[in-house]
Amino acid sequence: MLIIGSNVGFNKKNQLLGSLKEALSYNANTFMFYTGAPQNTARSEINEELTLEAIKLMKEKAIDYSKIIVHAPYIINICNEEKFNFSVNFLTEELNRCNKLGIKYLVLHPGSHVGLGKEKGINNIIKGLNIVFNNVKEKNNVIILLETMAGKGTEIGSTLEDIKNIIDGVNDKNHLGVCLDTCHLSDAGYDIVNFDLFLEQFDKLIGIDKIGCIHVNDSKNVAASHKDRHENIGFGHIGFQTLLNIIYHKRLENIPKILETPYVEKEFAPYKYEIEMIKNKKFDQNLLEKIKKQI
Ligand code: FE
Ligand code: FE
Ligand code: ZN
Repeated sequence: MLIIGSNVGFNKKNQLLGSLKEALSYNANTFMFYTGAPQNTARSEINEELTLEAIKLMKEKAIDYSKIIVHAPYIINICNEEKFNFSVNFLTEELNRCNKLGIKYLVLHPGSHVGLGKEKGINNIIKGLNIVFNNVKEKNNVIILLETMAGKGTEIGSTLEDIKNIIDGVNDKNHLGVCLDTCHLSDAGYDIVNFDLFLEQFDKLIGIDKIGCIHVNDSKNVAASHKDRHENIGFGHIGFQTLLNIIYHKRLENIPKILETPYVEKEFAPYKYEIEMIKNKKFDQNLLEKIKKQI
């Protein structure tokens, strides 16, 4: 069965229940959210009643709770020595929050080395993740998914080797996996048009069983541009057919697919329309117009 959703909001008042309702309004059967604003660390206390109510509604709607994703905020950078302690502490808290919410997957950007060099950067990530996992130890049911990155600036994680090197160094490998982002893979220079070849390469190096989530985004830029600017499904340089091949790939069937495509004119959420188009398996050239008019 296709498990597909998008990034949704998470507000103080309605929390998980609000996120779920937004996802349902897009006819999604999964979703991803930040536990607060992605750019800051202000986080509200998790309200257990709202969580329980959300879980009840998920059961009614036959939504598999274990496929729901949290994305860690961008300000976490365990790669950077200046922000190391802050990042380790915040990531530990984020893991605790996910455990409290009963969320299984937490997506994390590996980080940017900001001039330290790749090797030192990767060593810091390994060190940081080992501390974080040690902090939460037996109480942890959350798997951190390292996201593949576009290679903007000094980002680590734009090659599968980066990801593999991090996993190799972390002790608690059972709590570590990978999130593939189609825009980032293309921007990083991977040929995802021939996706079977890419998957084969991934499987040899890391193992398909490590993939916990796929971010499905088109890209505003050509392959290997290292830009990281997402585009609506079928309207970018990756294209509808390639994205469809990935979404419906037999070996990725049970993995949640999450859209992080841009709002149309910064105002209109595209997700309901994009999900419908993906389910129809037919590209609609007029989709952006429809979204603007909300018809
Ligand atoms: Fe991300
Ligand atoms: Fe992403
Ligand atoms: Zn991105």
